[in-house]
Amino acid sequence: LAKQQGRNAYQWFTRDITLRVNERLALRNELQDAIDGNRLELHYQPLCDQAGEIVCVEALLRWPHPDRGFVSPAEFIPLAEKTGQIMAIGRWVLERACLDMEWLGARGYGEFKVAVNLSPMQFHRAGFLEALREILAATALPASRLELELTEGVLLKDAGDAVDILHALRDMGVDVSIDDFGTGFSSLNYLKHLPISKIKIDRSFIKEVTENLDDASIVQAIVSMAHHLGLTVVAEGVETEQQLGLLKRYGCQLFQGFLLARPMPRERLEQALKAGSLLFSEEEGRH
Ligand code: C2E
Ligand code: MG
Ligand code: MG
Ligand code: MG
Repeated sequence: LAKQQGRNAYQWFTRDITLRVNERLALRNELQDAIDGNRLELHYQPLCDQAGEIVCVEALLRWPHPDRGFVSPAEFIPLAEKTGQIMAIGRWVLERACLDMEWLGARGYGEFKVAVNLSPMQFHRAGFLEALREILAATALPASRLELELTEGVLLKDAGDAVDILHALRDMGVDVSIDDFGTGFSSLNYLKHLPISKIKIDRSFIKEVTENLDDASIVQAIVSMAHHLGLTVVAEGVETEQQLGLLKRYGCQLFQGFLLARPMPRERLEQALKAGSLLFSEEEGRH
């Protein structure tokens, strides 16, 4: 009986794997079609300062899929990294973001920066800096208006290389932020020698910051150390007025989250800027 059960389990296991492989393959092909058909979209989510002014917008990829709705980048970026498709996607994102800032600039909204997420593979690939210089030259966006978001993991891998690239970016005038700070293994002590300008405290610490004393202490400690090192602190995933109030008191300088605005296409961003209001910004509206 045990043997029988074992065999069944094995069959289930292999069938499960086959499904997953097929599904991944299908998703890979569909993603390729979306890239080739120019169907990926970039949406922008504002980062506001303590006074509510937009100082930056983060570019976030959107894949409108015929059957799956908007497939989250959290789902397809890891896949694109495995298949290498991230290289084409990453380049497109950088170009699109720079062009969209020019588009907004031409309409009178050229005051804020744009932050682009970089995948580790993009950052470490030889020729990344050259490609970036080309894109900036071709789109005519000043380097000082572009910011790159990296996760801690990117810097731990090939750390020597990473430091050289960071210095080259600083020389170009492109600022770097550490994304999802607190979820990796690096410490602020490690970051203190790196030419970075911002850290973005991960949403997981912000979520319960008003109820959970541990999270509140962690956020306060991060803010105080970051300020000591001259880094700007961004709070990610701010959803309530209570969180915003507390995070302001703790000294966070920038805020990003559904309370302020959801990610939106450039046209919606222009409308919101024109109306002087960030609310009611994405499809879902204000929740
Ligand atoms: P991230 O860079 O940490 O981006 C922030 C994520 O939090 C976004 O998810 C955003 O929509 C979401 N978010 C913002 N405010 C709130 C809030 O108040 N509440 C909640 N629940 N969520 C909020 P999104 O757009 O699904 O992106 C997920 C991740 O995918 C990003 O995390 C980033 O790591 C990656 N990603 C997105 N676009 C790109 C890209 O162009 N290139 C690369 N390499 N990665 C990207
Ligand atoms: Mg980010
Ligand atoms: Mg983030
Ligand atoms: Mg995050």
